Amino acid sequence: MHKHPTSIWPGRAYSHLSNSHQPPTTFTLPAPFAQIPRHPILYPHPSPIHPLPNFLPNPPSHHPDHPRINLYAKREDQSAPLACAGNKYRKLEYIVPDILSPAPVHHYHEALDSTPPPPLRGPATTLVTEGALQSNHTVQVAALAAHLRLKALVLLNKDTGGGYRASREPALFAHAGNAQILRLLGAEVDVLESEDGDAGRVLDELAGRGERPYWIPGGASRHVRGGLGYARGAIEIAAQEAEMQLGGSGRFDVVFVACGSGSTVGGLVAGFKLLEKTRREIGRKVVGVINSPTQRREWHEARVLAFARQAGTMIGLAEGDVTTADVCLEDRFVGEAYGIVEGGSEDALRAMAQRDGVVLDPVYTAKVVQGLRTWMAEDKIRQYAQQLGLNQVNVLFIHTGGQAAMAAYVDRI
Ligand SMILES: *Cc1c(COP(=O)(O)O)cnc(C)c1O
Repeated sequence: MHKHPTSIWPGRAYSHLSNSHQPPTTFTLPAPFAQIPRHPILYPHPSPIHPLPNFLPNPPSHHPDHPRINLYAKREDQSAPLACAGNKYRKLEYIVPDILSPAPVHHYHEALDSTPPPPLRGPATTLVTEGALQSNHTVQVAALAAHLRLKALVLLNKDTGGGYRASREPALFAHAGNAQILRLLGAEVDVLESEDGDAGRVLDELAGRGERPYWIPGGASRHVRGGLGYARGAIEIAAQEAEMQLGGSGRFDVVFVACGSGSTVGGLVAGFKLLEKTRREIGRKVVGVINSPTQRREWHEARVLAFARQAGTMIGLAEGDVTTADVCLEDRFVGEAYGIVEGGSEDALRAMAQRDGVVLDPVYTAKVVQGLRTWMAEDKIRQYAQQLGLNQVNVLFIHTGGQAAMAAYVDRI
C-alpha cells in the first residue's frame, strides 16, 4: 500500500501543525461491533493526534536508563463540527439511533424508574439532560438537538461541585461560558438551586404537553450505549498509531484521560481490550484522572468497570475479559471540589498554554495534565517504560474539550 508522508511529525515533509495534507485514516470495526448502529456526528476523519514537543522536560539521549518520553495529544475538542466539540459527541453517536427510532427504548431516567417504562410511541421530540452550571455535556446535547431539529431541555445544578460558590463573580459564572452558549443554542434551561431530583417532574410535564422526552444521563455515561463511542475511539487511536510510525513500541503505551462520569475511560478500556484479544496486542495502559472529590475512587472504579463490561459485551468481549486490573484511576488531583481550578491544575493550564500554545479546560483536562506532570516527576512513566523494556515511551493525552467554560473562570485565569 502506498504510504503518504504523514504531516504530524516535526521534521518531516510538513509541519506537524499542517494536518490538512494528511490522507484520511480509515479503519473498520470488527464484527459484531461494526453492526451496532451509529449516527455520525463527528467529522468523517479521526480527530487529530499531534505531538506536544515542548511540554515535558526530556533528556536528549535514548539511553535505556533514561527512556525518552514522547507526548502526544488527541484532540477530541476538534472532533466534530458542532458547538464546543468535546468527548460527549463521540458517545452521543451511539445514542442517536435510539433517539430517532420509531420506538425509542432507552429514554428513561434509570434512577427514577425501577422497572423500564415502555418505549416511546414515536421518535423523541425533546432531549432532556442535566449537568453543572458550566457543563460541557449539556452544550453538546443542546447543539445535537438543534442539529437534529429537536428541542432541548437542560437542568443545571447550582450545587454541583464548588465552581459557583468559589467564584468571585457568581452571576458571571452562572451566565458566561457554556451557560451563554447553551442559551444561544436555543435550549430551555432550568437552573436548580439544589440537586433535588426534578428530572421526574420535568419528564412528566413534557409528556403531559404531548412531547416525547428522551432523558440522556449526565455525561451520557449511564446510558446502555454510553461506552460504545470511546470503545470505537480506541480502535480509531490504534488506526492512527499504525500510520504515525511511532518510535518505541509503535503504540501509545500510556493514555491519560479525564474520568468524570466514567464512560470515556470505560469505553477506551473496552476498545483496547478488544484489540488485545483479537490482535493479541499488548494492552495499553489507560490512566483515568478523577476530577472531583464527591465520590471515592472505589466508586469510580466500580462504575468504569461496569461501563467497560457493558460496552465490552456489545462489541464482542466476554463479561470476564475486562477486570479490575484494567482500571487504573488516579485520585490525587481531585482538588477541593468539582469545578475549582487551584494550585497544580492552574499551573498545568498555564504551562500547556505557554509551552505548546494549547488551551486546556479548567475543570477536567487541567487536572489530567496535572496528573501527567506528577507521574513524570515521580518517574512513574519511566519506570513503566523500563518494565516494558522500552527506550522510548509514547504517552497520549486525550484532550476532551471544555474550553468554553474558561470565560466563567475569568476571576481566576
Ligand atoms: C464530560 C467531560 C469529561 C469527562 O468524561 P466522562 O466520560 O464523563 O468521564 C472530560 N473532559 C471534558 C472536557 C468533559 O466535558
